[in-house]
Amino acid sequence: MQSNSSPSINLNLARKWRSKDFDHIVGQELSVRILKNSLYLNQFFPVYLFSGQRGCGKTSTARVFAAAVNCMNIQNFQQNPKTFSLPCRTCASCLAMERNNHPDFIEIDAASHTGVDNVRQIIEASTLLPLLGRKKIYLIDEAHMLSKAAFNAFLKILEEPPASVLFILATTDPEKIIDTVRSRCFQLFFSAIKQDLLVQHLINVCMQEQLAYEENGLALIVQEVQGSARDALNLLEQVRFSHACINQTAVQAVLGHPQEAQLIGLFERLIVGDSPDSFLQFLQEINFSTISPVFIWHKLLALVRVAFYVHYNVELANTEYAQQMGKMRGQLSIVRLIAISEQLYEQELMFTKTIHKSLFLEMLLVKLACSLQTEPDKLTERKQLPPRVNPEPQEVAVVHNQNPVEHKAGTSQSRWESFLIKIQTLNDPLVLSVFKQATFQEYNKDKATVHVEFPKTFAFFKDLLEETRPSWLPLMEEVFEQKVALMSVLSTQEPIKSTEKKTPQIVSPKQEIRASNTQQQKNYSYPVQKKTFASPVSKGQSFDVSDKARWKLANELLEAFPGKIQQIGENK
Ligand SMILES: [Zn+2]
Repeated sequence: MQSNSSPSINLNLARKWRSKDFDHIVGQELSVRILKNSLYLNQFFPVYLFSGQRGCGKTSTARVFAAAVNCMNIQNFQQNPKTFSLPCRTCASCLAMERNNHPDFIEIDAASHTGVDNVRQIIEASTLLPLLGRKKIYLIDEAHMLSKAAFNAFLKILEEPPASVLFILATTDPEKIIDTVRSRCFQLFFSAIKQDLLVQHLINVCMQEQLAYEENGLALIVQEVQGSARDALNLLEQVRFSHACINQTAVQAVLGHPQEAQLIGLFERLIVGDSPDSFLQFLQEINFSTISPVFIWHKLLALVRVAFYVHYNVELANTEYAQQMGKMRGQLSIVRLIAISEQLYEQELMFTKTIHKSLFLEMLLVKLACSLQTEPDKLTERKQLPPRVNPEPQEVAVVHNQNPVEHKAGTSQSRWESFLIKIQTLNDPLVLSVFKQATFQEYNKDKATVHVEFPKTFAFFKDLLEETRPSWLPLMEEVFEQKVALMSVLSTQEPIKSTEKKTPQIVSPKQEIRASNTQQQKNYSYPVQKKTFASPVSKGQSFDVSDKARWKLANELLEAFPGKIQQIGENK
């Protein structure tokens, strides 16, 4: 790209440095070559479709191409394509293009002219002959925004375009252009501009504009804009107006990114732990509230990943942060790294939803950094040791003699059973079912705690018990004759199925109903009838779901709700 011949202070950098000829289009070599060949051979398609992401040069290229098609010196180029630059930028047509008042170049923003009437106007006007150049050229920007009716109206002229008309459709989303239109276009793909080319372009702009710069600052700009030259120049301009020199620190400040040392410092505190006052002091020092929370979030996860690689001495393809992380190698604890990433992932949904992202992240980081300080061993212990089946009740059992636990298991057990009877009055079958699955363990009178164990599947119903607590807790307190708290643990063992304990036998439906209502339910399992699928199952009869592979959902339901599955006939 190159500067206007008469540099204007009013133009921003992105407009000022818009390409004016083919030689200055950045990073679109193939498209440019195709267009230049077309000009050289003097053969044009009636409709071009330029597609590619924003800011990669579609519209600029379309303007250059339009200027070249109508350039009065095109013959010079066709005779000598290597030395003559097209458009010439000196003839009346080219100058009119640069002044944006060429009578034969019509640029339409489809985003604001989506209707069919706009297209009809174009079709009518396109029958008129060009005034200054050889062709009337229509550039339809954001073409995917045209309505379907507009596309259909447009189709008519695309089928039989007048020889003097050339259309260029530019779009970021070619899939949205209807197939019948797309198939009549000559499509050119514009790729995201490569990072090194874009850095070189920014260096060129800085030198021409006499801006002080450091290459790492420009590289950071390029990393941020994902191949868009326009975004890169706009960002460059923001930095230019806020800082004397365009270096890494200046760009980071504009983007709201912390400096690398600050980021590493933060990560180190999360790894080794910090006291709340010292950690908050650190956040103050790095001006945490001015830093982009989303950026920190992504970088912390990236750092956790790097730390994993460094910890296991595996070389990373991208060496960013690897060096600093190497210095921390001795402090990197895998347990800690997992805890950090787990916390970040667990809270991610909440983080994306909240409008107070910075505050949310600040609190989360404080919690992370200080959790290690307050409980140095707990975390390690919990993560490293294999989970115990019933940790809490076992501890209570060991100190049996000091704590006046009700020794006669029968007494507490009968209280629990009274509770199970009482709870039926709630008329809440789900709550009843959940409690019936629990195994009563013990009642600690002094601590006022009732200890029970739930099967693994209970995890799904934890919230339910929390929500319904006001209804069942008074009943429990009535039975235990004091204010009590329910202490629950989850069993890590699969519930034992009755089939595993009993010899399989075929029972009649009647027997089975009785069994499932009484002792079977106490065992928290259900009877499985050994029957083949071929045998007819009539209304009210139990249904064989013992084939777990085939009746997966049914088996899961039975684990949560002990009972049996019956066939319900359609006829009453
Ligand atoms: Zn010209």
